[in-house]
Amino acid sequence: MFVDSHCHLNMLTGHDSAPISMAEILSSAARNRVEKMLCVAVNTTDWDDMKAQCALYADKIVLSAGIHPCYMHDQDFAALARQADDVQVVAIGESGLDYFYDSDVQTQQKQRDSFAKHIHLSAKIKKPLIVHTRDARDDTIAVMRTEQAERGRGVMHCFTETLEMAKAALDLDFYISFSGIITFKNAAEIREVCAYVPLERILIETDSPYLAPVPYRGKVNRPCWVQYVAEQVADVKGLSTDEVAKATTKNFYQLFENAA
Ligand SMILES: [Zn+2]
Ligand SMILES: [Zn+2]
Repeated sequence: MFVDSHCHLNMLTGHDSAPISMAEILSSAARNRVEKMLCVAVNTTDWDDMKAQCALYADKIVLSAGIHPCYMHDQDFAALARQADDVQVVAIGESGLDYFYDSDVQTQQKQRDSFAKHIHLSAKIKKPLIVHTRDARDDTIAVMRTEQAERGRGVMHCFTETLEMAKAALDLDFYISFSGIITFKNAAEIREVCAYVPLERILIETDSPYLAPVPYRGKVNRPCWVQYVAEQVADVKGLSTDEVAKATTKNFYQLFENAA
């Protein structure tokens, strides 16, 4: 059985061009042996809607609460703390730094402040952190070290960075999660990182609706396709897909203890 450790189900049901119902997400996931999905928040304003859609499927779907670095107009940390306390919530995030979309110096400072707050909240309520990082390698690791992110542990989601950064994250006791990007032809460097990371520290995800894996690249992504990520990890590691499914599922429940 597979677990999709990172997806945005409310972006799928509310998708502009190709909406897909929660019932169809669930049935296609079940057909492809996906037993659990972690639906990740990107802001506090969509929370009520996301929670309402997922609450009916609490045996299959667990949630995170967080404010994504590209949503810094949302500074409602009081709402975040309330949402983080919800019983269905097993993680904090996604939070982190994204300098690719935000080159503005003030916004970047806001991102670092918000990231620090997420790290503290994660440690305080003992729910692991989901880290998003893009074009901000040094600052991401610097904030994690300064704020002692290893107190709460977590995962570097949708990993597309260097081996050096993967090593730094592993040293902080973090897991590394691979998405459909690892199946792309031009992703040799990510496959090298995957070869290095110990199997017991690897998670897999779709990040749907984004980043559909080969052979569905370019389509609206969905949790049922997480198996293609597992297949690629298996290929890199010289293992069977079943062995990768087993290991990554076990890792998921070890990190997100409340998800079982
Ligand atoms: Zn992300
Ligand atoms: Zn995401």
